[in-house]
Amino acid sequence: TYAWFSQRAWVEIDLAALSHNVQQLRRFLSPRTQLMAVVKADAYGHGSVTVAQTVLQSGASWLGVATVPEGIQLREAGIKAPILILGATHTPEQIHAIAHWKLQPTICSPKQALIFSDILEAINYSSPVPVHIKLDTGMSRLGTNWQQAAEFVQLVQRLPHLNIASIYSHLATADSLDPAVMKLQHQRFREAIAQIKALGIKPPCLHLANSAAALSDKALHYDMVRVGLAVYGLYPAEHLRSCIDLQPVLQVRARVTQVKTIAAGTGVSYGHQFVAPHELRIAVVGIGYADGVPRNLSNKMQVIVRGQKVAQLGAITMDQLMIDVSAIPDLQEGEIVTLLGQEGKQQISADDWANQLNTISWEILCGFKHRLPRVAV
Ligand code: PLP
Repeated sequence: TYAWFSQRAWVEIDLAALSHNVQQLRRFLSPRTQLMAVVKADAYGHGSVTVAQTVLQSGASWLGVATVPEGIQLREAGIKAPILILGATHTPEQIHAIAHWKLQPTICSPKQALIFSDILEAINYSSPVPVHIKLDTGMSRLGTNWQQAAEFVQLVQRLPHLNIASIYSHLATADSLDPAVMKLQHQRFREAIAQIKALGIKPPCLHLANSAAALSDKALHYDMVRVGLAVYGLYPAEHLRSCIDLQPVLQVRARVTQVKTIAAGTGVSYGHQFVAPHELRIAVVGIGYADGVPRNLSNKMQVIVRGQKVAQLGAITMDQLMIDVSAIPDLQEGEIVTLLGQEGKQQISADDWANQLNTISWEILCGFKHRLPRVAV
């Protein structure tokens, strides 16, 4: 089926699944809640331009990136939708680029607001830049402490070059079964907004929820939700699986580059961490840790070949890994192996890898390197 790909290994991006996920999320949200697709880190490794174009056609109306270059990449591709930079920006170069490319920055502190205003003043920038006020309600990452929200908002409001477009915060434990911290953060957010309103300021747009919060409590939706992981078809936690039907978007495939038989007692790969207990038919597959297959999965992972799961053998090397194909004696060089994704009735998910590695699926998705071409299917 994939004969037209000349590559040894690639990442497939299932645009129908991506569109399905956005439509499902859209249906789950009330019509007055906007959907921001978080496409930072090259859309969690999926390829940001193609992802952005597809999600915007499917019901998302905002894009979230981490850095200025990520935003510029989308603008250069002709994307006109509003783009919020979730990370902090301070330097004159960053601020000039934000103004030039019509990106929308996060303002995390009074100091950063003053820097922004001064730099825009210095270049005589005419129209006000829409900015997004970040409050720290308990993540202890970016943002001004929620207790100083009112003063902070008042200061930004007085600056001539800045126009408050939204006020937001980020949740630290939305994927946890224990709601206590999330409830506390929500309470703090509500109190901060009440203080701001008491000054006679009506916040234009409020947002708080990531994927886990969006799926777990509609009271957290406010005017917009910022969804990353769920857009890519993964669930932020097991207990949130029943909320909505999501389909994984990313699949990783590679070709068999050589097939051989090895005798009992033969070691496989660097360090001979695996030694054949009996004669085996093995295949070399053209993908390795330089492509983003974590070396710590060596001797632990499985792959799918001809619709069946088989074991990976020995250390994963930079560009190649070996698998046990004794059950498929007629396997040919050039045939395709699925490392992540679905083939026939079998499936291996980013969650499977994350569980094996004691990490999270977000890190697995972001780990695939640019050496692997992203192919839309
Ligand atoms: N909002 C902010 C500020 C983020 O940093 C992120 C990603 O880490 C998200 C939203 C999206 O999170 P998730 O992928 O869990 O939906």
